Amino acid sequence: MEKQTQLYEGKAKKVFATDDPRRVIVSYKDDATAFNGEKKGTIAGKGAINNVMSNHLFRLLEQQGVRTHFIEQLSDRETVVEKVAIVPLEVIVRNVAAGSFAKRYGVEEGTAFAAPTIEFSYKNDALGDPLINTYHALALGLATQAELETIKRTAFRVNEVLCAYFDTLNVRLVDFKLEFGRTADGTIVLADEISPDTCRLWDKTTGEKLDKDRFRRNMGGVEQAYQEILSRVMGQ
Ligand code: ADP
Ligand code: UDP
Repeated sequence: MEKQTQLYEGKAKKVFATDDPRRVIVSYKDDATAFNGEKKGTIAGKGAINNVMSNHLFRLLEQQGVRTHFIEQLSDRETVVEKVAIVPLEVIVRNVAAGSFAKRYGVEEGTAFAAPTIEFSYKNDALGDPLINTYHALALGLATQAELETIKRTAFRVNEVLCAYFDTLNVRLVDFKLEFGRTADGTIVLADEISPDTCRLWDKTTGEKLDKDRFRRNMGGVEQAYQEILSRVMGQ
């Protein structure tokens, strides 16, 4: 697979064309941002950790019948994925109140829900990724009703698989963000990444945060937390 011109540089990854128009190479960076790009930094080794961990979780999800964009890991930072047209929605599933949910609704962080919740943000940096509902998504033409149903069903299925998996690592999956895309034939598949950048992961015994909140909240021990979650995931 030949890496060709860079198509896009995002906050955490670069995307390259390949000699196959149906495939792209994603290259994970150590750059970290938070609060819509206001806070910037680097987390040493993050790119490789997120790449390897995301690929591991995508393989697990594929085994459980979830269609993903994952094709082949090329190196510690680079992966070949199916090129998709990203649905401009950030799909957030939560099991426990944290972050913006805790703040917006005045709920103490750490409050567990009786059943998981889902919400959508419009993926639009200029607007600061505003919260929207599925009627708004339809009105804006971001996805069809059928696609939204597939996205919701798949997101909850991903939650079931990942909750059970992280439980075996003594980790609580608090919340996470997913992105979906359309393949050339219009199939909705899980895309982007699942990593400590996009999940909240708490040690079940100590409550220790093993995710990007350590960076967002200037808690220190960021690199160690990423290493710790990687070794739990890969140690199995
Ligand atoms: P951002 O754009 O938010 O800064 P990244 O730095 O992670 O995010 O950049 C990666 C970009 O690649 C994102 O815009 C993401 O939606 C997009 N992307 C993820 N998976 C695929 C894929 N399979 N095909 C095409 N684009 C993808
Ligand atoms: N998230 C993400 N990208 C975003 C916004 C959120 O990956 O642009 C993830 C975040 O890591 C967390 C979950 O989605 O696991 C819920 O985030 P929340 O809405 O609480 O936002 P935050 O507190 O991060 O602003």
